Amino acid sequence: MINFQYVKAATPKSAVDGLTKSATAKLIAGGTNLVDLMKKGVTTPDKLIDITQLSLKEIGKTNNGLRIGALALNSDVAAHEQVLKQHPLLSLALKAGASQQIRNMATVGGNMMQRTRCPYFYNPDMPCNKRAPGTGCGALKGFNRMHAIFGASDKCIAVHPSDMCIALIALDATVQVTGPKGDRRIPFAEFHRLPGDLPQKDNNLQRDELIVAIDIPDNNFNKTIHYLKVRDRTSYAFALVSVAAALDMQRNTIKDVRLAMGGVAHKPWRLKEAETFLKGKDATAENFRQAATIAMQGAKGYGYNNFKLKLGPNTIVEALKLAAAKA
Ligand code: SF4
Repeated sequence: MINFQYVKAATPKSAVDGLTKSATAKLIAGGTNLVDLMKKGVTTPDKLIDITQLSLKEIGKTNNGLRIGALALNSDVAAHEQVLKQHPLLSLALKAGASQQIRNMATVGGNMMQRTRCPYFYNPDMPCNKRAPGTGCGALKGFNRMHAIFGASDKCIAVHPSDMCIALIALDATVQVTGPKGDRRIPFAEFHRLPGDLPQKDNNLQRDELIVAIDIPDNNFNKTIHYLKVRDRTSYAFALVSVAAALDMQRNTIKDVRLAMGGVAHKPWRLKEAETFLKGKDATAENFRQAATIAMQGAKGYGYNNFKLKLGPNTIVEALKLAAAKA
């Protein structure tokens, strides 16, 4: 680990000012990913700006939804009364992530900013366009069992690792950010990005912007929901494939539906075409199977991860069945 300066920000503005003044400064809150990245030499900031003192931990109702402060802890969000009542999908996804100890430290903003767990990215001796642009992608023809089947490029086939973000994209959340040019809102679906020719960029946040809060609009997805995560062990493991499924049912008919996948792309992967297919249909195994087939169009394996081409649709069908069974 290199030497670095450590400062505490007293206000969002001072945190932003700190980022503006240094090209390599990083914000730190829970540090559950950043410290690992620094220990391995993947990230080498000259300054850490501790933002844990900022008043961004509140979770509360707004006129048309729920606002969650960027510094709210993952465990606090998962257990919050309003989240359990209005957005239980988010609670399920959070509880599927990491371990209780990590959830007690990790913040909502940090969860969104965590970086891929591609092993080549974490090994400075290996080629990796995300860590060292222009060096190649070790995973493309290497051991790519955990990697993407949607939206990858020849520069990077990594996946986004969060569970929480899969629920947030399904719930049509919005990200509130602030920076030197003022405040702005980013639809959650546009926050993270595909790798394209710039795999070093995980998201569309400017490097001198700070995430302030997440807004989740009111909806009717508070009962027939499920977050299904398939992984190598039942705790403290990243998703091979995960599916967030939320249904708004009238008897056996699907009035509205949200579907998103994790472990399959460089960003949380929303299944809009499958949602459109399911709207107005009965909640039957056959319709779920057809929706899964639609969702998997365009999927591509890279060798070791070919099993996801079968695991993906099976997980979609199972998640929908488990959600519908709660009606
Ligand atoms: Fe690096 Fe992305 Fe390739 Fe992994 S998949 S080695 S993160 S460029």
